[in-house]
Amino acid sequence: MSKQIMLYDTTLRDGTQGEQVNFSAEDKLRIAQKLDEFGIHYVEGGWPGSNPKDARFFSLAKKISFQTIRLVAFGSTRWPQTRPENDKNIKALLKTEVKTVAVFGKSWELHALQVLRVSLDENVAMVGDTVAYLKEQGREVIYDAEHFFDGYKQNPAYALKTLKTAMNGGADVVVLCDTNGGSMPDEIQRIIREVKPDLTVPFGIHAHNDCGLALSNSLVAVRSGASMVQGTINGYGERCGNTDLIPVIGNLQLKMGYQCTAEERLKQLTELSRFVSEVANIPPLNQRPFVGRSAFAHKGGVHVSAIQKNPAAYEHVNPAEVGNRRRVLVSDLSGKSNIEYKSREMDIKLGGNGYDSRRIVDKIKQLEDQGYEFDAAEGSLELLIKKVTGQFEEPFTLESFRVTIEKNRIGPSTSQATIKISVGDDNEITAAEGYGPVNALDNALRKALIKFYPCIEEMGLVDFKVRVIDGSEATAAKVRVQIESRDAREIWSTIGVSENIIEASWQALVDSVQYKLSRELKGGREMLYDTLFSDKRRG
Ligand SMILES: [Zn+2]
Repeated sequence: MSKQIMLYDTTLRDGTQGEQVNFSAEDKLRIAQKLDEFGIHYVEGGWPGSNPKDARFFSLAKKISFQTIRLVAFGSTRWPQTRPENDKNIKALLKTEVKTVAVFGKSWELHALQVLRVSLDENVAMVGDTVAYLKEQGREVIYDAEHFFDGYKQNPAYALKTLKTAMNGGADVVVLCDTNGGSMPDEIQRIIREVKPDLTVPFGIHAHNDCGLALSNSLVAVRSGASMVQGTINGYGERCGNTDLIPVIGNLQLKMGYQCTAEERLKQLTELSRFVSEVANIPPLNQRPFVGRSAFAHKGGVHVSAIQKNPAAYEHVNPAEVGNRRRVLVSDLSGKSNIEYKSREMDIKLGGNGYDSRRIVDKIKQLEDQGYEFDAAEGSLELLIKKVTGQFEEPFTLESFRVTIEKNRIGPSTSQATIKISVGDDNEITAAEGYGPVNALDNALRKALIKFYPCIEEMGLVDFKVRVIDGSEATAAKVRVQIESRDAREIWSTIGVSENIIEASWQALVDSVQYKLSRELKGGREMLYDTLFSDKRRG
């Protein structure tokens, strides 16, 4: 049996100290439910004594019955010269009615003397009284020894004394914190080895990432005997963040032989990370270990050809184990194997025993030389493969468009687009307005197409990015426009390159619509035409 590690999530408390992170009480509830589905053991919901939002979260959470998580209320030890039962902060902890509370106390002389400005003895008494009182109230008590490692480096005997006091008071778990994130893995290992003989209860680690070592320090602590890891999803947190629980879980469970959650639930790791990004409204990091979009993306032709023979050649674990997926990217670095892999994925047949894939690679190289980038535009890539192999039928043809922008002294600028397209023998001219020229063009194109292809209505724009390329020739600089679109089923990206931003945007827009139609009309096209023309005949 592999050793069970307790996962303690503090995304909702320490995570919200991160610069861009803000959660409403309702957001926190959604995240807590997600953590519950994943099988996290403890979730620190907030500091009820410090703000009304956290207090509200705990009252909302009372109505929910969680499967795996124990909700934790967080707070400090009693104030100096106060009795715990009269302390406002401790009253707020108890008022949440949660069974588990976490209290932090000072292990570092510097903090006791200079920050709290209390005597060293009073600081120890604050720890002991608080823990003992909360135990009397029937709570499970997790004691966070704030700045434990820094404190131990300054005065080992005193740091240890605070810890022993918490244990004597009845703490169920003591957590050694590297609050400033400045310790090295070998220091963590040495200090744990030194204090471990004095620990009479299970211990945990709470690390910050100021040296980029929070993950390493947490893993080293587990190897040294810690049975609880505190951290946040995606490593959100103050300054450089907390320990990221995502790779903690991946490494402990897939590499180091510990048990964090059920194997089935581990497959939700990617979803968990993205869900929390989404609620935090922070774009997910593509390079995030285990769960990032690029974590199992292969670009070089040699790599792609190797992983087709055996994925282990360039993958440290099977992406499916953490709910991620393998991606093969196509660019001018690609060889035939990337194209062949990609075409299979897109369900496009290539012919000529390598003849088609060679022609596609040549075309891509030529276009990337002009500034296109297909690894980030899989929608445009699919169209390109279909076009080169003669498997693409244009759903419409542009006859012309015109865009005007008007700006006067007062008021915002307005844009208008007029567009003429043909579908079969039919011509359509439409005009539309928009916030800007590209928006006006997009509106006009949709308006023109919608009567031929009603499914256009389902698609929408997600993102629009413009980048200047060819920085060297400022006068003739090209721009690359990348558009992300979506419908109910998927998100796809397309690309356009030109010296003219409107032209580049147009290319990307057209690719986006054509991609949608090529997916939608697979086999359905004739039928649509029939209805259309029979309607016309009737009219
Ligand atoms: Zn912290």
